[in-house]
Amino acid sequence: MKIYDRLFINGQWVNPAGSETIDVIDPFKEEVCGRVPSGTSQEVSAAVQAAQDAFKIWSRVAPRERASAIQGIATALEARSEEIAQTITMELGMPISLSKTIQAGLPTAVMASYAHLAAEEFPEEQIGHSLVMREPVGVCGFITPWNFPLHQIIGKVGPALAAGCTMIVKPSSMTPLNAFLLAEIIAEAKLPPGVFNLVSGAGRVVGETLAQHPNVDLVSFTGSTRAGRRIAELAAQSVKRVTLELGGKSANVILEDADFKKAVSNGVKDICLNSGQVCSALSRMLVPMARQAEAVAIAKQTAEKISIGDPGDPNNYMGPLVSEAQRRKVRGYINEGIQEGANLVCGGPETPAALQRGYFVSPTIFSDVSNKMSIAQDEIFGPVLCIIPYKDEDEAVNIANDSIYGLSGAVWSRNEERSRRIARRLRTGQVMINGGKFNPLAPFGGYKQSGRGRELGKYGLEEFLEIKSLQF
Ligand code: NAD
Repeated sequence: MKIYDRLFINGQWVNPAGSETIDVIDPFKEEVCGRVPSGTSQEVSAAVQAAQDAFKIWSRVAPRERASAIQGIATALEARSEEIAQTITMELGMPISLSKTIQAGLPTAVMASYAHLAAEEFPEEQIGHSLVMREPVGVCGFITPWNFPLHQIIGKVGPALAAGCTMIVKPSSMTPLNAFLLAEIIAEAKLPPGVFNLVSGAGRVVGETLAQHPNVDLVSFTGSTRAGRRIAELAAQSVKRVTLELGGKSANVILEDADFKKAVSNGVKDICLNSGQVCSALSRMLVPMARQAEAVAIAKQTAEKISIGDPGDPNNYMGPLVSEAQRRKVRGYINEGIQEGANLVCGGPETPAALQRGYFVSPTIFSDVSNKMSIAQDEIFGPVLCIIPYKDEDEAVNIANDSIYGLSGAVWSRNEERSRRIARRLRTGQVMINGGKFNPLAPFGGYKQSGRGRELGKYGLEEFLEIKSLQF
């Protein structure tokens, strides 16, 4: 049981004004495993004031000095990586071997990448009689979700620190413990007080106060499209900069000349990663109509081999969903898919027989899905794969793009030229070709209702910079 009873504001651990707390639930044991304060607008105001004061100092610190502070945080994250992985496995339910590389390793690498980027002076450019330069945007508010909790925080904190901005972080109430570990690390780092502040609490209280605060210059949000819309509305009142990383319904386009076994089994493992609670999950698998039966057979065989159970067991690939509410939502969609007439290949709404404790849902595959069905249109955020047959290449592209989302996608073909051509036609921020791996330096973000702005690498840094022209 991890209990944090104070918030981190202006370089100090402070007692919250109110007495309300948030219980963190271990989704495997279905027990309370931690507790954090539920902050109020009073703490948000104090944190914003601290960040404003700190901005005057941090924005003028030399790039090399900023880089060295960021590297110090990356090194400390590395040193505590086992504890980070165990904590996130406990609050989220991702199996421990995956947590070590993804939940602990990835944010450490991203933080280190910003130490490199921070070391460079921002480029200046002469345009006619003007000198164009970049400056940090100011005080930032960060509102983050639970599925890759520390990665999503670091994807904002890293570039903000590198740019010379100061910040207030509001982590998800489902998985706030890792954010407190980060605050402990930052408390030890040599940052001026107030550069980084942590205020846990409800989205409607802490999140909304940040989004509309007149002295917050930028709000960066990762989460549902519904909450993103609300935040953008609130932020509009003070015309602040808004970055949104929202939902997805990504298409995995498998062409008839692909390595079918590899493409289909890779797609099934993708939708089972983190129990399908991945914004860029390849939740729609598009296959040539004539080869749907073959794809279904491979998919079923792969799903049945997925090891699901105790997230503490390093041999498991899939753990429970994050909460009972999330499980209810996913089961609701599975029932809807059955009612809509999709063919249930494996899985289903029932609790897996051997897993009566924990919020488990079996890998579930539907075939003969029409893209009009709600299971093909809505983000389910669970281990539910829709196999959608198509007639020809053009129809495959049309189906892939027939979505309100545009976050990610994939193309499989033995013909590299052809796969690139299809990838260029997909209206999404990323496309994985023949199983191309995630790149933590490449820009990540969405077209359409998947969001606005980009995270990671140098494009992620640019979101935190204003542009100024000096005329001579
Ligand atoms: P959510 O929108 O419910 O919550 C995200 C965060 O916003 C939490 O910290 C929450 O407390 C806060 N929040 C909720 N309502 C708010 C409001 N009205 N005002 C201010 N803050 C508010 O999302 P979630 O359930 O935590 O996460 C799952 C969603 O996140 C999925 O839709 C998923 O696709 C999306 N997601 C997107 C990305 C991406 O990079 N595109 C990454 C991960 C998750």
